[in-house]
Amino acid sequence: MRIFSGIKPSGDPTLGNYSGGFRQYAATQEMGDAYFCIVDLHAITVEYDPADLHERTLDLFAMLVATGLDPDRSTVFAQSHVTAHAEASWLLSAVTSYGQLGRMTQFKEKGSRQDFVSAALFNYPILMSGDILLYQADIVPIGDDQRQHLELARDVAERFNTRFGEVFTVPEGVYPEVGARIMDLQDPLGKMGKTGSSEQGTVRLLDAPDAIRRKFRTAVTDSGREVRRGPDKPGISNLIDIMSVATGTTPDAVEAEYGDAGYGAFKQAVGEAVVALLEPVQQRYAELRGDDGELLRLLGQGAEKARAASAPTLERMYEAMGFARLR
Ligand code: ATP
Ligand code: MG
Repeated sequence: MRIFSGIKPSGDPTLGNYSGGFRQYAATQEMGDAYFCIVDLHAITVEYDPADLHERTLDLFAMLVATGLDPDRSTVFAQSHVTAHAEASWLLSAVTSYGQLGRMTQFKEKGSRQDFVSAALFNYPILMSGDILLYQADIVPIGDDQRQHLELARDVAERFNTRFGEVFTVPEGVYPEVGARIMDLQDPLGKMGKTGSSEQGTVRLLDAPDAIRRKFRTAVTDSGREVRRGPDKPGISNLIDIMSVATGTTPDAVEAEYGDAGYGAFKQAVGEAVVALLEPVQQRYAELRGDDGELLRLLGQGAEKARAASAPTLERMYEAMGFARLR
């Protein structure tokens, strides 16, 4: 079984990334040959500061390890270190539908927040398709917000296979049963993200315990007083999901325990559960982040493994598409 997933060094990672990303990475690495990519080429699709990108890449690598990835067992690497990604993206653009790219809700949402909308933002899902397909991934652990992009990657793989011959495994998305879309604590109809969500409603994995407690204390709730899930209760439903993710219990069990506790007490309990979840992560992160040399060594090791794993697929792509190859 081949596993692939990527995460952007676009800002300090959030509880949403933990739920749809990091915790799934740690769990799925046990299932086979796993590749986890810091997708730095994706980070330049919107306004960003070049002075930050280098540090953010090391930060994210340390976080991937702090949340449970073993860089000796899995291949953990930076996208820009493996040039096959940029090449694959161009080749795959020939079998990607312009119309389908224009229908991507993330393009519309992120585009509406930018003064300057880059062609890179529009093309982003092609690069992402290449990321996945280069490794012949069977499964892709992601959050719900990536569902549409994953569908596009599957379409791209199928169109290539039909047009040029069977080269790609068609990947399946894997989504957590609970917490596939963690919402902004201040706006439970909007996704919590590294970018684009409210500062007070976004829990960062490196937030100090008191900041985390404050964010949950001030979380927006709904009318009524009962702690239960429902379409009429987006705020409380989100907090129930977060409690379930933080403690590893089911949402039903959370409802059973806190149903009559009142919103105030429940919000406080969720805050404490998240503080307890993140404490050991923050500790491991601080240890790892102290040693740039070791992080760069591990990134180099990951890059080498990723280059070796992706090169045969890229070569098959060129050959299938009819390019003259020099041997
Ligand atoms: P950005 O705002 O820059 O897009 P992001 O927080 O959406 O950042 P990404 O790097 O785009 O993070 O995505 C990394 C992984 O985290 C993806 O698998 C994505 O589905 C997942 N993810 C992001 N936000 C959430 C969320 N709120 N709930 C669950 N999973 C999420
Ligand atoms: Mg995102």
